[in-house]
Amino acid sequence: MAEAALEAKILAALRTALPETPHPVALHEPRFAGREWEYVKECLDTGWVSSVGKFVDRFEADLAAYMGVKHAVATVNGTAALHVCLLLAGIAADDEVLVPSLTFIATANAVAYCGATPHFVDSDEASLGVAPAKLADYLAGIAEVTAQGCRNRLTGRPIKALLVMHAFGHPADLDGLAELCERYRLTLIEDAAESLGSYYRGRHTGQWGLLSAVSFNGNKIATTGGGGALLTNDSALAKRAKHLTTTAKLPHAWEFVHDEVGYNYRLPNLNAALGCAQLEQMEGFLAAKRRLAERYAEAFAGLAGARFFTEQAHARSNYWLNVLLLDPAQAASRDTVLQATHDAGFLTRPIWTPMHRLSMYQNCPRMDLVVTEDLHRRVVCLPSSVVLG
Ligand SMILES: *Cc1c(COP(=O)(O)O)cnc(C)c1O
Repeated sequence: MAEAALEAKILAALRTALPETPHPVALHEPRFAGREWEYVKECLDTGWVSSVGKFVDRFEADLAAYMGVKHAVATVNGTAALHVCLLLAGIAADDEVLVPSLTFIATANAVAYCGATPHFVDSDEASLGVAPAKLADYLAGIAEVTAQGCRNRLTGRPIKALLVMHAFGHPADLDGLAELCERYRLTLIEDAAESLGSYYRGRHTGQWGLLSAVSFNGNKIATTGGGGALLTNDSALAKRAKHLTTTAKLPHAWEFVHDEVGYNYRLPNLNAALGCAQLEQMEGFLAAKRRLAERYAEAFAGLAGARFFTEQAHARSNYWLNVLLLDPAQAASRDTVLQATHDAGFLTRPIWTPMHRLSMYQNCPRMDLVVTEDLHRRVVCLPSSVVLG
C-alpha cells in the first residue's frame, strides 16, 4: 500500500491531539474566565473608561512585576510601544536598525515610522529568531565601529540598534545577541510581543533590551482587546515614555501646554481593566499552552515529513502559537497542508511573508536570508487557543 499523503497524516495527528473539539478550530481565541466582567463593570459604573484611571496604573505595576522589570508604560497597541522604544533609543532618519526579516510587519514598520531603514538579518532554525553567529560574520564584513558608533561601510549610514523578536514565544538567543550588540555598540531592543511568559536561561524575555515592547492584541496569550506596553529598567526612559505617549503634556490643573510633538498612545482604562484580569490568569494560560504543546508533540512524534517545533533546553516558551515544521523535502506541500487542514476545520496559518519580499521593504539593505526563505516555506502554525489545552 502506498504511504499516506503528508496532509492526511497531519490531519490524523490533529484529530488525535484535538479530539471532540468543535469545528472550526480557530488559530487563537482569547479566554475570559477570570474577573474581566467585574473590572470592566467597575470602569462603567465609575465613569473611568478612558485615558486615566486606576486600572492603567495597576496594569503597569502588575505587568512590570510579572516581567521582572522596573517600569511598564501601557500603550494603545504593541506597535505604538515599539515605535516609542525606537524613538527613545534615539532612532532617527538615516539610521539603520537590524531587524529579522522573519517577523510580523509591526517590527519593520516601527523602524520606518522613525524615518529609519530596516536592515534585514537572517534567523536560525533552532530558535526561529535572529542567528547570532551568522550576524557576527556578516557584521565583520560590512560594519565598522567608529567614535560615533557602528557604521555600515556599504551605505555610510549609522547602524544604531538591533531589534530582536521572539517568534511564537520561543526566545531568540539573547546572550549571543547581547554580546554582539556590546561589541558593535548597538542598542538592543526586544520585540517581546509574542513572548509574555517566555523565559531565556531563567529570566523573562524583555529583560535584555534597553527597551522592550509587548502586545495585548486579541490574538496574543493575554489580551486587553487591543493594547501593548513598553518596558524598561531605566527610570528616565520610563518617564520619557509616559510623557511621549500622553501627548507630551506638562502636568497642570487646567493649562494645555505640550513641550514637544507627542503621541496619543495611551491605553484606555477599560482595556487596562481587561488586562489586569488577564494577568491574574497567566499561570493557568501558560499551563494550558504547555499541555496543548505536549499533546501536539506526542501526536506528531514519529510522523515522517514534519516535526513539531519544541523549545530549546535553555528556554521556556509560552507556546503562544504552536509550530509544525515540514521537512525540507516536503516544503512544496505546505499549501496543500494548509488547504486540507482548513477544509477539515483546523484554521492553520503559514508564517508571515518575509519583510524583504514586501514591496515597501524590498530595496532595504539585507544579508543573505536563506534560512528565513527556507522557514517561510516550511512553517505551519497550528490552532493554539488556551481553551484547547
Ligand atoms: C502582535 C505583534 C506586534 C504588535 O502588534 P499590535 O497588534 O500592534 O499590538 C508586534 N510584533 C510582533 C512580532 C507581533 O506578533
